[in-house]
Amino acid sequence: MTLLELKGVTASYGRVQVLEGISLTVPDGGAVGILGANGAGKTTTLRAISGMVRTGGTITFEGRSIRGFSPERVAALGIAHVPEGRGTLGGLTVRENLRVGAYLRKDRKQVAADMDYCLEIFPQLKNRIRSAGAALSGGEQQMLAIARAFMAKPRLLLLDEASLGLAPSTAKAVYEAIRRLRLESGIAMLIVEQNANLAFTLVDSATVLETGRNALTGTTAELKGMDEIRRAYLGG
Ligand code: ATP
Repeated sequence: MTLLELKGVTASYGRVQVLEGISLTVPDGGAVGILGANGAGKTTTLRAISGMVRTGGTITFEGRSIRGFSPERVAALGIAHVPEGRGTLGGLTVRENLRVGAYLRKDRKQVAADMDYCLEIFPQLKNRIRSAGAALSGGEQQMLAIARAFMAKPRLLLLDEASLGLAPSTAKAVYEAIRRLRLESGIAMLIVEQNANLAFTLVDSATVLETGRNALTGTTAELKGMDEIRRAYLGG
């Protein structure tokens, strides 16, 4: 079943149109990547879904149009957005950040169980449960941002550049945790990633954006086999 579908989505900042008609589909429980160079419109695509930028075209979630919805309304439908730069609350502790993630939920027992689960998936956070968000390393902040989004119990996670600024080994650890989260929880994911090698360890399919358009779309296996992908994104 299709969970999220974008058809001919446009977006502008003021008078500057940045997306020229993006299409993509995220199946229920699937993981889809958005690749492309700086400025191609990857972040803006996620912001269009989250209601953070003016959009045209069609955006449906579970078969209903969500285009033009406010970010709060989109979040309440079960779409959690982990922005580039993470957006953890530096003045709150790790535990408080996780509680903030779950603030709309009423199922207290399940919230407590999900908190334990997050700390199992991200053991680094367990050791720092009383530390302020601002005191964490970049990798730990990224893990906290993902864990906080998971605490909202979303159907779809929008993840923007989870590897940005991290050492390669840390980025790999973050992606291993995300992959486990995906396999065990069944949350669908739409991830923006510059590092295609990392993205391909997680996603089933991806679309490559160029100047606000889909340049290439395919399964991970198809894309890995394409010369232009190998040259531009896989360093070979
Ligand atoms: P990056 O990896 O650099 O984030 P990206 O593919 O995510 O790249 P976007 O951030 O979506 O690209 O930006 C697409 C275009 O929109 C760029 O040309 C950028 O300069 C422009 N842009 C982004 N944010 C704004 C804004 N708030 N106001 C005006 N233009 C913007």
